[in-house]
Amino acid sequence: MTGEVVEIQHPLIKHKLSMMRDKTTSTLEFRRLMREIGMLLAYEVTRDLELTMQRIETPMTAMDAPFLDGKKLCLAPILRAGLGLLEGMLDLVPAARVAHIGLYRDPKTLQAVEYYMKAPELIDERLVIVIDPMLATGNSAVAAVDRIKEQGARRVRFVALLAAPEGLKRFHNAHPDVTVHVAAIDERLNEKGYILPGLGDAGDRMFGTQ
Ligand code: URA
Repeated sequence: MTGEVVEIQHPLIKHKLSMMRDKTTSTLEFRRLMREIGMLLAYEVTRDLELTMQRIETPMTAMDAPFLDGKKLCLAPILRAGLGLLEGMLDLVPAARVAHIGLYRDPKTLQAVEYYMKAPELIDERLVIVIDPMLATGNSAVAAVDRIKEQGARRVRFVALLAAPEGLKRFHNAHPDVTVHVAAIDERLNEKGYILPGLGDAGDRMFGTQ
């Protein structure tokens, strides 16, 4: 199986992403845009969810109406930058369960180091959407999906704002069964593993920790 990448072509997402890339955008504005794009990405990544019919009564008459089928979704942000997209995704899917995956990038090796993991029960029966705004080297993305699969997840998708071609390749070598939904694929990584042209450090820009 070769990994699928869905590059989302929505003008609102593109416009908001350009504003986020601009280095003069404030922390307040950056965080607000991250949340808004999170909502739009949630809309795109859930477009093919299965529905089941249930009998209801409208004020006028009875009808069979479509409702989401199966167990509640599980959103799985990679800490800490994933939290910004999570908020917007939860605005749209408020009943979703949340698995937190704490990973940081060792600045020397660029390898992902885990420091926290907590997932909801019955993860094997849920669609799990792993969230990280920046799919750069792919190391954190691979490690996060490794861990979520170890917890039992069988159906996994990955949502990012920006991806580097190198990271996508690495990710799909490790997880060819996981589709990546991304707002834009940028040119390349720099020597420190940052995406070019990118938007800088997503966590720092979102939380004002630069
Ligand atoms: N993480 C970020 O926040 N930005 C990058 O460009 C790469 C990884």
